[in-house]
Amino acid sequence: MRISIKEVTEGLKSIVGEEWVITERESMEGYLRDETPDAIRPKAAENLVLVKPSSTREVSEILRYANEMLVPVFPVGGRTGLVGGCVPIEDGIILSLERMNKIEVDVENLMAVAEAGATLGDLIKAADEAGLFFPLHPGDEGAQIGGLIATNAGGVRAVKYGVMRNYVKGVEIILPTGEILNLGGMLIKNNMGYDLMHLIIGSEGTLCVVTKAILKLYPRSRYSVTLILPFNKREDAIRAVPEILRSGVTPLAIEYVGLKELNAAANHLGEEWPVQSGDAQLLIILSGSSEDEVYSACERISEVAEKNNAGEALIAETHDEQERILKVRSNIYTALKRDMVDILDATVPMSRLLDLMIKIDELSKRYGAYLPVYGHAGDGNLHVHVMKENGEVPSYADDLKGEIYEATVSLGGVITGEHGVGRLRIKEFHRFLSEKERNLMREIKRVFDPNNILNPGKIFP
Ligand SMILES: Cc1cc2nc3c(=O)[nH]c(=O)nc-3n(C[C@H](O)[C@H](O)[C@H](O)COP(=O)(O)OP(=O)(O)OC[C@H]3O[C@@H](n4cnc5c(N)ncnc54)[C@H](O)[C@@H]3O)c2cc1C
Repeated sequence: MRISIKEVTEGLKSIVGEEWVITERESMEGYLRDETPDAIRPKAAENLVLVKPSSTREVSEILRYANEMLVPVFPVGGRTGLVGGCVPIEDGIILSLERMNKIEVDVENLMAVAEAGATLGDLIKAADEAGLFFPLHPGDEGAQIGGLIATNAGGVRAVKYGVMRNYVKGVEIILPTGEILNLGGMLIKNNMGYDLMHLIIGSEGTLCVVTKAILKLYPRSRYSVTLILPFNKREDAIRAVPEILRSGVTPLAIEYVGLKELNAAANHLGEEWPVQSGDAQLLIILSGSSEDEVYSACERISEVAEKNNAGEALIAETHDEQERILKVRSNIYTALKRDMVDILDATVPMSRLLDLMIKIDELSKRYGAYLPVYGHAGDGNLHVHVMKENGEVPSYADDLKGEIYEATVSLGGVITGEHGVGRLRIKEFHRFLSEKERNLMREIKRVFDPNNILNPGKIFP
């Protein structure tokens, strides 16, 4: 930094006004952390200033100023990330776009134009009010559009509509120089050279700040049901997943969860999980334009389930019932968080999911560790939790994680399919990605941000 944080504060006040520049530590507490478990969350730096601009122009001026003065800038969204990605680990500026939260729905084009500080919950509501649907659902609706793009979020409903990348059609971004770029547009097709927009998606706040996005919406499904299929053996549940997809049915979501973890989440919310048979369960969300379509899909799934020894299914039809099920599923992480060291998001080809689970069982036995495993079975994406023992981080935690990662990669997978690299996975990023790929990425970082002011210490050491 060329100047003191006191001088930075004055510089920011001249851009956004005194009211929107915060220096008191107590008032910025919530901006110093994300949802990463306490045991491993990186520590925030000491000398920080929080700024809340209200327009693209103000964001542009902030970045130009920070770049000239070589002040690190940490873009934050809803702070729901799980790899310390937004934590301000060096002295500098915390940049929150929460005041930039407008959403306009373009019904004709089935798209929304959303400012980066709008939350996922806001977008789902705005789409619904316009008679449309934004399906993406990572567990926490407090995540913001900027954060969802920067992490290329996935979540439970990716089987049918894909991850964030599949929704983003255009972005407005600000480079560290303060230059404003509009990439993409309300277009379905666009082949104008290298696709910079897709480079920005998943760049974790290290290349630019996203201020606005054009996002694809879908017609609201007229009918939807949620099935809970109980299995006594996990192998049966996992084997059923590709068979369901091969049967020609594409559900919104296919989640694998253990009964123990579902009960923990339900207890945490003061609810009761409705299906108490079967230690291994599949939660399947189906949607369609007619009741017949949805019920004939249910029948096909029931045939596959029966063939794979499923017990009696529960079919939730009302909106409230389905929301309650999704809420319990979304709260497994929250329920387990207090006793957790880390949440992994290993991803393998769907056909290797069972192999990965068998390997995790073997590790669980060898280390004598309780390893809750659940996740987006329809995407080959598993959340494995490393838990504390007697309230402490066990000495084997890093070795165990290393073995899970090795198994994942040897099965043709990647160590992160959702949460990204952030601060926490830098070591593994270097271990499991080729030097050539890392060097190419470093060069890209240098082209966008030669002074390394944007989210320093993330992805790269
Ligand atoms: C209970 C729970 C369940 C979750 N389930 C899922 C899941 O199923 N799938 C999934 O993918 N994730 C999941 N997550 C993780 C998290 O919700 C997503 O990563 C989300 O996309 C983060 O958005 P955010 O706004 O909170 O970003 P933050 O956590 O604030 O930031 C994340 C990254 O984005 C960058 N960033 C934020 N805003 C901008 C911007 N405007 N411009 C540039 N960079 C920016 C930050 O610098 C940081 O690197 C879950 C989290 C929780 C707590």
